Amino acid sequence: MEIGTQAHTPADDPTGSRARRYRAVDVISHDLGVTGRCDTVELDENAAMTIVEHKATPVRHRPEVTEPMRIQVALLAGALADMGYPVSGQAIYFTNHHTRVDVPLTPADRALARDMVAATARTLAAEQAPPPLEDDRRCSRCSHISVCLPDERPLTLVTRRIVVADPDTQVLHLATPGSRAYVTRGRIEVSKSGEKLGTFPIERVQGVVVHGNVDLSGGLIRELLWRSLSVVWCTSSGRVTGWARAAQGPNGGPRLLQHVASQHGRIDLARQFVATKVANQATLLRRHGDAPTAVTRLRELQREALDSPSLTNLFGIEGDAAARYFAHFLTMLRPKVVATEGLTFSTQTRRPARDPINAALNFLLRSADR
Ligand code: SF4
Repeated sequence: MEIGTQAHTPADDPTGSRARRYRAVDVISHDLGVTGRCDTVELDENAAMTIVEHKATPVRHRPEVTEPMRIQVALLAGALADMGYPVSGQAIYFTNHHTRVDVPLTPADRALARDMVAATARTLAAEQAPPPLEDDRRCSRCSHISVCLPDERPLTLVTRRIVVADPDTQVLHLATPGSRAYVTRGRIEVSKSGEKLGTFPIERVQGVVVHGNVDLSGGLIRELLWRSLSVVWCTSSGRVTGWARAAQGPNGGPRLLQHVASQHGRIDLARQFVATKVANQATLLRRHGDAPTAVTRLRELQREALDSPSLTNLFGIEGDAAARYFAHFLTMLRPKVVATEGLTFSTQTRRPARDPINAALNFLLRSADR
């Protein structure tokens, strides 16, 4: 996101306009029902306009115009035309590739853009959130997955609109070797060798992750902890080396309640724990394995866990789910690796682990317990 923001910065600054080349031009179309902003609008000698949108596509991707880009320029061109300006062309400028690609529009593009606006309006006005994609690879890379919950939502009726609590706050990752971060006038500033690399309002920061050789000033650490924000230090490859948390942590009360619940027994909590565990098993098996019947049964067990009348019954459900999950565990590993390594797995064995998969599972469980 930050890369896109940086790439857009010149285009978002109206003061960067020159003769026949205007930056950050706001547009509106009552007919289409949209407002927007053109990154750049160029005028030719007849005062006809060409819209140029800036995109920060990663260099490893080809600078290709996608359908969403076509829709965007179609809407911007439609809005400019509605405002009475002649539009002679559209283009996408790929900032990382320094490449400009013209985007001639067809009537089909304009019709699609209009349809998309209508569909978006229907979605916004709907009482219910749209259904998530089903078993779609795009979800694993989607930044909304923790809010959208595409695997979990089909299991339960969504009774409220799902919105991000505070879309403006972010975890700040500092990853430029040799840089230094400090706080000044309510902003976190990052600089290296006298060059300012970035500046962020501290109230928009949820936490800071430091990757590798980046210095944090004492003042910044104090300010973050005073605001109960955590700092995590990692190696440049992402291994966590340590963290700092405010002394006044929120964990004391919940820990106390946890011990009281453990003393008295709480089947309502136990039901939730087991149902969630079974849900995760079903999700993992569905995403990575090949056992649709087992997944269906795991989903049933998940629901049964929530209605379980006793702890004994709950343990039975948990054991049944574990047996089904591990019976298909091998289907989640790459067949080529299973074949070349001669891997086998039938059941979990703890001490001693009887095969390489159990050894790996035990090692990971012990690591997670620490
Ligand atoms: S996780 Fe992202 S891509 Fe998947 S359904 Fe939700 S919003 Fe769409």
